[in-house]
Amino acid sequence: MTALLGIIGGFSLALLAQLGSASTERPWLRSIEPSRCGSDELVEYPERPRWIRHAIVPRETIAQIAARYGVSELDLRAHNGLSAKTKGLRKGTRLRVKARRMPAPRRHIEYVVQEGDSWSSIARQHGADGRDVQAYNWPWQGKLRPGTKISVWADPLVTDWVGDGDESPVRAGAIGSGPPDAGRLFNGVAIPEGDGYRLGFPDASYGTTHAVAELVRALTLYRERSSYPADLELRGMSRIHGGPFGDHRSHQTGRDLDISLPRRMDVPAWLPLTPRRVDWLTVWHLVRALFEVDANVVYLDYALQKHVRDAALAAGVPQDEIRPVLQYPRGRAAQRGLARHMAGHDRHLHVRFGCGPCEPECVERIEIPLPAAVGTPR
Ligand SMILES: [Zn+2]
Repeated sequence: MTALLGIIGGFSLALLAQLGSASTERPWLRSIEPSRCGSDELVEYPERPRWIRHAIVPRETIAQIAARYGVSELDLRAHNGLSAKTKGLRKGTRLRVKARRMPAPRRHIEYVVQEGDSWSSIARQHGADGRDVQAYNWPWQGKLRPGTKISVWADPLVTDWVGDGDESPVRAGAIGSGPPDAGRLFNGVAIPEGDGYRLGFPDASYGTTHAVAELVRALTLYRERSSYPADLELRGMSRIHGGPFGDHRSHQTGRDLDISLPRRMDVPAWLPLTPRRVDWLTVWHLVRALFEVDANVVYLDYALQKHVRDAALAAGVPQDEIRPVLQYPRGRAAQRGLARHMAGHDRHLHVRFGCGPCEPECVERIEIPLPAAVGTPR
């Protein structure tokens, strides 16, 4: 099952690259699966885009609405005569949307405050973000008293998921909105502590439930196979609310993670990391494990992929097993393999996880690497 998922992920990536255009059905359009979220909500996928009207709920952005219905923000603005300057719109404003998928919009809930509630605990119960819930009820005087009513706007699918008593080890309800390079993270969940890795940037170690769960699964597989005695360094995923982070272009929606290339144990820490000083077999075990979970792409400099391949071959890994994992040796523009060349990825690798089944606003946007120096998401 897990290997199958990886293969499907790799396959759809290759397929998308070949077909490319907007006329083909993009896999992310069908990534929402209410049945996997403990929900009986319906998500419609009309054969042709269908015109609908969407009434704006408080704090909802144009980008979010675009993501929800699978349309581009540019088109959505054009269809409604909105310039790029228009940021927020008043609650209830109706937008014309040429929808390609139709999950239910957020709904208003009147919630009665219980003993011990906080803004963030209430938000979490509904799969909303604490910042938003506080803003829905602004201005609020004094404390949250049991028995008072407050307003919550919540996505019914996400609320069902959170209330599902889901058995996964990573808490439900952390979702990404928008594409990785222009989005937000709602209710972000921290990467848990664990054996075999450490967090280099704890303040930026938040992700979606799906991405963090898939990461934990990959790290477990990695540990079963690798004998590397030191910790892997997980560098940065997203900040707790996502959005722009340092000089990274992506990392905005809790699905991107940088991992430092592991240093050979006989190389002292003070020496600069060069290709000869990297433990490439450990890199192989890591990328191989990521291949088995829902990772869309691993960015790693093309020339360095040769070292990964050589180490795997030297360890007796059959070619057939290596081929779908690495782009090398097909050329740095080849649209094959989970690992893809991206300039600037020579001391770390960058993995992007897929959209989870309970994320109505997640936009996959599989980036196909551009020739060196054109685009360098880090
Ligand atoms: Zn990165």
